Amino acid sequence: MIETIGSQELQFVIVMEGTAADDQVEDVLERLAEAGAHGRVTPGRTSTVIGAIGDHGLLGSISFDGVAGVDRVLPVSKPYKLVSLETSPEPTVIQVRGRRIGGEHFGLIAGPCTVESREQTLATARAVHAAGASMLRGGAFKPRTSPYSFRGLGAEALEILAEAREETGLPLVTELLDPRHIELVAETADVIQIGARNMQNFLLLSEVGRADKPVLLKRGPSASIDELLMAAEYIVKEGNPRVILCERGIRTFESATRFTLDIGAVPVLKERTHLPVIVDPSHAAGRRELVPALARAAVAAGADGIIVEAHPHPEEALCDAPQLIHTADFPSFAGEVRALAALMGKVIG
Ligand code: PEP
Ligand code: MN
Repeated sequence: MIETIGSQELQFVIVMEGTAADDQVEDVLERLAEAGAHGRVTPGRTSTVIGAIGDHGLLGSISFDGVAGVDRVLPVSKPYKLVSLETSPEPTVIQVRGRRIGGEHFGLIAGPCTVESREQTLATARAVHAAGASMLRGGAFKPRTSPYSFRGLGAEALEILAEAREETGLPLVTELLDPRHIELVAETADVIQIGARNMQNFLLLSEVGRADKPVLLKRGPSASIDELLMAAEYIVKEGNPRVILCERGIRTFESATRFTLDIGAVPVLKERTHLPVIVDPSHAAGRRELVPALARAAVAAGADGIIVEAHPHPEEALCDAPQLIHTADFPSFAGEVRALAALMGKVIG
């Protein structure tokens, strides 16, 4: 979506140097004003970004070469800019408590769909940790299709997850559903998940854009690849560059799987963005028997990680029971993923 003010549109973006002073930002704004344009300043954690809004041809009528404090000027050829591979051709590597995702670092994120109890969560955490997972997932606030389904233990689940991290050292990935919970969730989470159903909840995206935690952004079941990138742009634009994209299956006419894993999205995203791309084979498959094959496909397609659901007693699970891998089967699953990742030149952790 190109921003429009009257007939004027966003023409290009000026990324200031991290060290740029306020008067250097002012200087850029004055230069834009002299050219009859308007600058919209977005302060970020690492650098300030100024959107230049004006008539077509503005970029040809003004130059920022050698202007103090200006790092680079990005023409708006794509609707997303900061997440674009054009902006930064090096892959982004996201580091959390010494674990990395991106570049040659493969993330194996595993754990329960939902935190149901202390015993279930600790048993799962121990099993996935022993098998070499690099992060622990677990839902505290659950988005459920039916309002009568179990919607998570909330704050109590966050305490249980913190205990699991304390014991295993695994960083925690957990979902934020409600902007009012941002402080509560960010206090415990190492990575904040934005679920598929909230991919275009723009207030939630802006909220996590202001948080000092990496964000795992899941693709909406009916969202295009560019819509996913634009959702990521919302987060990065607010000053949070640490975004992990996740393909988790889309809605199609096919009902043999829960969703249709869009494996092609992995190489397409790699062409368009520097952000790490992971795959969730569990929600795509909907059946545990299919999860290993989809996980292998993800690794082979060049994903930077997978996020997978496991449970010590899947038949008793309160959420997503049919797709949970039995923790007893997790070591062989993880071994296969590790071997394939190595073939792709990647290492877990
Ligand atoms: C989840 O990961 O727990 C989840 C609900 O996934 P999604 O948002 O992809 O449906
Ligand atoms: Mn689930």
